[in-house]
Amino acid sequence: MTTTPLKIPFNRPTHTRLVDHYVAQALHSGHISGDGDFTRRCQELLSGLLGDASILLTTSGTHALELMALLLDIAPGDEVIVPSFTFSSTVNAFVLRGAKPVFIDIRRDTLNLDERLLEPLITERTRAIVPVHYAGVACEMDPIMEIAGRHGVAVVEDNAHGLFGAYRGQPLGTFGVMAAQSFHETKNFSCGEGGAIVINDPRYIERAEIIREKGTDRRKFFRGLVDKYTWVDIGSSYLPSDLLAAMLLAQLEDREWVWEHRSTVWNRYAEGLADWSRLNNVAMPLVPEHCKTPYHLFHMVMPSAQSRDALIAHLRAAGILAVFHYQPLHLSPYGERIQSAADCPVTEEVSERLIRLPFYTNMDPVDTEAVIESVCAFAVEA
Ligand SMILES: *Cc1c(COP(=O)(O)O)cnc(C)c1O
Repeated sequence: MTTTPLKIPFNRPTHTRLVDHYVAQALHSGHISGDGDFTRRCQELLSGLLGDASILLTTSGTHALELMALLLDIAPGDEVIVPSFTFSSTVNAFVLRGAKPVFIDIRRDTLNLDERLLEPLITERTRAIVPVHYAGVACEMDPIMEIAGRHGVAVVEDNAHGLFGAYRGQPLGTFGVMAAQSFHETKNFSCGEGGAIVINDPRYIERAEIIREKGTDRRKFFRGLVDKYTWVDIGSSYLPSDLLAAMLLAQLEDREWVWEHRSTVWNRYAEGLADWSRLNNVAMPLVPEHCKTPYHLFHMVMPSAQSRDALIAHLRAAGILAVFHYQPLHLSPYGERIQSAADCPVTEEVSERLIRLPFYTNMDPVDTEAVIESVCAFAVEA
């Protein structure tokens, strides 16, 4: 069997003008381990944009989530409420500490966790609620924060998609006690593999620094607050190399440019596919009025699993790679082993019908038009 050569990939990592320059600077600076000058500059820039939160770069979004679970002292027997419609890392971080995931279903419109289902899932053992801002569009944070507050449960955001998005004018990542960011190759801002923890509750800052630095008080030592550093707590190594921070800083400084490019592609898809989607009964992504999106991805929900698979095949034959996600975690092999009782019908239905179109910062407008044209040539069979 021959396959058509790929003309339009699903993703390309974001590239901005200062990346090469900053990486070369970092390389020759003599400091290529963690917490160098570029790391500090990324953290300060992010802090300024995220309500003065404390920011620590990490080696991945996954590791930022793990750090959050450690800081919350999640222990065996604890329960954590998470959507089943997400990436494994959202849940793994807590499962690694022995917690039991309690899966919550999603809303049909934004595909975010359905806040109307939240309260009945809270028990005496619930320690955390983890909103995932899907595609960078905010979960309904007002009711989520209200319910969590009333029950004394921590909210920690998985904001891997949502950096620079907002809910009622407030930046995503600043609602919970903490939030995780990802700078993986597939995210809006990327250094290959990387992440950050956003700490909004100052009680967690000192311990976060210690856990991230192998359980030592090394950061205090560098600030001159102690005269030697030593092992003071459990910990790991969650510091990215300053080379990666250099790559990231260049992109963060050009965030307006990144936003502009991504919004252009997104809006062109929305416009170019509007008539086709109405004719074919395809649900387009929704961005509610009170939400600002950072345009992380472009997804559509097809009328059936068959039409979704057929559209992916149709595009692939034209050399265009479209993909789907997420396999519901409660139906995955590991999810079924640890938690089979989840009641998530919308998650199950949507995950079979969702398609993601090629979408990246540096996408050539010619390619965007080619994708639109190819999609419009596909008719869903009645
Ligand atoms: C990408 C992603 C992660 C993990 O981030 P990494 O940096 O790849 O470890 C976690 N949660 C969600 C929702 C993601 O999309």
